[in-house]
Amino acid sequence: MSLLAVRNLTKRFAGNTAVDDLSFDLKPGELLALIGPNGAGKSTTFNMISGQLPPSSGSVVFNGRELLGVPSRRMVHLGIGRTFQIAATFGSLSVLENVQMAVLSHRRKIYAFWRSAAGRYRDEARQLLEQVGMLDLAGSPCSELAYGDIKRVELAMSLAGKPRLLLMDEPTAGMATAERNALVALVKRLVVQNNMAVLFTEHSMDVVFAYADRIIVLARGQLIAQGSAEQIRAHPKVQEVYFGTGKTFETVVSQDDKS
Ligand code: ADP
Ligand code: MG
Repeated sequence: MSLLAVRNLTKRFAGNTAVDDLSFDLKPGELLALIGPNGAGKSTTFNMISGQLPPSSGSVVFNGRELLGVPSRRMVHLGIGRTFQIAATFGSLSVLENVQMAVLSHRRKIYAFWRSAAGRYRDEARQLLEQVGMLDLAGSPCSELAYGDIKRVELAMSLAGKPRLLLMDEPTAGMATAERNALVALVKRLVVQNNMAVLFTEHSMDVVFAYADRIIVLARGQLIAQGSAEQIRAHPKVQEVYFGTGKTFETVVSQDDKS
């Protein structure tokens, strides 16, 4: 069964169709990579699904419910989480406090009036930190963390809402190769453990091919291929449009490695 059904999604900006009649599905427990060159329409797709940007046409159905018109702040209550490209933690608070705040923001309606927040959410926050391998650093201020660790805290914060679908636009931006691998490997484990669905974008083809269950490729707003790593690797349209003429797939991968 499809958890997310994107149908004929289109976004036109003045003189430019950023996303053009895009349709795809996402199942529970699936890690789906959305790839494509710069300007292909990946972020525009994310922003339409997460309610940040109204589509020109098309529909997005989550768990049988039409999402279009649902404000993005309500998405989290439906079971849709997202991580942000910019580091969104509060530097002066500890790792644990940041995650406690995230849990609090999801439970506030129920508990705010009869129990003190800090004590109530500590265990839950610690559990989330354990899931992302950050329990050891629970007491450190976020301002002292390495970049990769901040991204893991952000991941724990986005898990506080118990999302069934997590949207991650370039979660590993700014990371070195080893950190990228570690973060996406972690996301892959969470997908399996929580039977969560994840849609993500990622520049490193090595990482995409190693961890994604399925890959969809956008070029100039259009879906040009979808399938497994092997299918995408061998797809002539992907070689031609995504990697550009005259460049072999291998050159792109090794260039990627250096970044
Ligand atoms: P990607 O994330 O794949 O790099 P984007 O979705 O950011 O691509 O952009 C797709 C296309 O839409 C690009 O040509 C970009 O210039 C254009 N675009 C994105 N946002 C806007 C906007 N707010 N106004 C006008 N054009 C935009
Ligand atoms: Mg983008």
